[in-house]
Amino acid sequence: MPSVLSAMRTNHTTARFTISSENTIHESRAFKLEQEPRRSLKRQRTDDDDLRSGKDEGGYNPSGYLHDPVWYVGDEVTEGEVVVRVDRTLFKLPKELMKRIGSVGDATIDKEKYNDKSPLSLDFMFKYLDPGLKTDHVELFRTLLWAFPIMNQVTSVALGDNPSSADYALCERILSVTSLADRYNISDVHAWAASVADEVIKNDAFLNSVSSLVLRKLYEVGVSAERPLIRAKCLEVWLSRVWNKTAPAVPALQMAEKYQEELIELKGVAYYTLLQDMADQQAVAADGIVLQLKADPKLTNAQVLRLLSGHYSLVSFWERFKLMPISLPWTPDSPCSEEQHVKCNAVWSKRWLSAVGWRRILGYNSADVLGMLQCLKDSLSGDDDIRAGLTPACRMNGLELLTRKREDVKANLASHFLGCL
Ligand SMILES: [Zn+2]
Repeated sequence: MPSVLSAMRTNHTTARFTISSENTIHESRAFKLEQEPRRSLKRQRTDDDDLRSGKDEGGYNPSGYLHDPVWYVGDEVTEGEVVVRVDRTLFKLPKELMKRIGSVGDATIDKEKYNDKSPLSLDFMFKYLDPGLKTDHVELFRTLLWAFPIMNQVTSVALGDNPSSADYALCERILSVTSLADRYNISDVHAWAASVADEVIKNDAFLNSVSSLVLRKLYEVGVSAERPLIRAKCLEVWLSRVWNKTAPAVPALQMAEKYQEELIELKGVAYYTLLQDMADQQAVAADGIVLQLKADPKLTNAQVLRLLSGHYSLVSFWERFKLMPISLPWTPDSPCSEEQHVKCNAVWSKRWLSAVGWRRILGYNSADVLGMLQCLKDSLSGDDDIRAGLTPACRMNGLELLTRKREDVKANLASHFLGCL
């Protein structure tokens, strides 16, 4: 079987997309759709856009709706066809195709006469979508129609080490129909998109450079198709991106709050990163006293509240922690004598309490506990008094305890961002 990409690159010269099955229809229309410059998937089209573009691409009908330029061909609606409407765009589709659209293609299409004056409305199909994502319903429905003939010809994705912009666009397009296919039991389309996702996660170069939106769609395929491997890979990539600030934290946060349990770690990391960014962006007013809070405008009020509760919790933690040096444990089989160990703890505590007041730690923002924990460990690690006053085993033990504390705090960041209880 050809790959999606090789088929896409050669679709104007080869017969790879020739549709031979009776179940695959509108082959030439699918070609036409693909060969035309595609509209950006990024921008939300509006009704006005459809009506404006109708002057060039499609046609008005008396009801004021736009005929889809690809999926409404000819004026006559035959017995075997049905007119459906998505937003303000009409599609004239074979009834057999509509019956493949899972639970959407209900029995009424054989009994009722759906035409331009009374089209079958499919607007209900899109009501489950998150309005915050501003999905273009017409484009999504076109993509679903596009998938039917294509998926029978293409069963794998062959992404190289240097995926092109066309590769990204194509993968995004395929993945975009998975939630719709899952929602309406269009099992063949869903299985096909899931198999593409299986391939995509094997390509690190692709995964490390896809947009947050594609990463989200990939994760959602992993959920709906019950693919733990896809979910784990997406989480790994997203955590790395947010920590390294190579991707914005807000999309990660939105995703993490939707899938709370499995993405709890991502939620904590996203909030923590946002908090550090917020701290970096604050500026004290001209009076040198007032600080007017600036938060990312994409955050909801509830999220800002959780962010601030996290700030409070982290600052409170550090205020307590810095004044209570970790006690170094002693056991009879320790290489340090009991008498010497009293001295170990005394020196350790004294130097700890000194180090937390040093300028290098005070330079951190007060909620950056991970930064301060690392700084404290580095300070004590290089401290001559500790080196001289503790046995090597106790010194290493203390530093190791600090490392573990930092890992513990890092693994449980989300617990700070619960809002008000
Ligand atoms: Zn000791």
